[in-house]
Amino acid sequence: MNSIAVFGAGTMGNGIAHVFAQNGFDVTLIDTTSEFVARGIKTITGNLDRQIKKGTLQAGEKDAILGRIKTATSTDAAARADLVVEAIFENLDAKLAIFSAIDKLCPATTIFASNTSSLPITRLAAATQRPDRFIGMHFMNPVPMMKLVEIIRGYQTSDETYRTIAELCARLGKTGVEVNDFPGFVSNRVLMPMINEAIYCVMEGVAQPAAVDEVMKLGMAHPMGPLTLADFIGLDVCLAIMEVLHDGLGDPKYRPCPLLKKMVQAGHLGRKSKQGFYKYE
Ligand code: NAD
Repeated sequence: MNSIAVFGAGTMGNGIAHVFAQNGFDVTLIDTTSEFVARGIKTITGNLDRQIKKGTLQAGEKDAILGRIKTATSTDAAARADLVVEAIFENLDAKLAIFSAIDKLCPATTIFASNTSSLPITRLAAATQRPDRFIGMHFMNPVPMMKLVEIIRGYQTSDETYRTIAELCARLGKTGVEVNDFPGFVSNRVLMPMINEAIYCVMEGVAQPAAVDEVMKLGMAHPMGPLTLADFIGLDVCLAIMEVLHDGLGDPKYRPCPLLKKMVQAGHLGRKSKQGFYKYE
């Protein structure tokens, strides 16, 4: 496996392209416009510079890494990839459209992976004629820094596909963890109810946001409090994932906190709107 196509040059896609190129793979980074791919390359360049400054990358490697990333604005550019990693925005129909298009384009041996946080891998795989060669590769943000890849096996993912992707994660210097396809996988099934409960604590007046965060940081050794993390992820994203858990598992314990809903309605989405549980300049 040598040639990787990455769909989406946003937050996750540019990080995924960065990590593959840094580990010697040829990457084609695809987005809908040349401005979006250029923005992705600019972010990768900035992140490589930061690695050089920190001493985790030799300055001489930067050009070789960037030289391994080609950019494109057309789906056809994925035709020769050994692996396609899809990291476009979290929209089922948009993802299905890409997978059904590339299914006709790529050789039968090409493995398809999605970086979705919450959509069923089994549903995405069903849009193709290769559900056995379809898998979830759930990278964490920021991709170059975070060790984990949650590897999600769809209902029909073959053992061979799983083994190939697990070995690939090791080549990327990541730790792949095997997980089955259920709503929220493991990461969001455990993380989001904790964040949701932290929001209930604020709503019910148990404690102020800073106090909730301090308890979890100092008491549980979390590097970041749950409400700071929620602001970082985006409160709209947190709400969407709680809804996936609530709908998909049907258990009232996943009921999104009314305060979370109200903040999203008010446009208080966290860092990206400069206002969430905290204010950002
Ligand atoms: P983003 O909005 O930063 O980037 C998405 C990119 O996809 C945009 O540049 C957009 O132009 C592009 N795009 C849209 N339609 C496209 C198409 N048809 N072809 C090519 N490119 C297209 O989103 P993101 O935060 O990088 O999230 C991407 C995926 O990763 C989502 O499925 C999300 O759930 C998942 N994810 C996100 C995070 C996170 O912390 N941001 C973490 C893990 C997983």
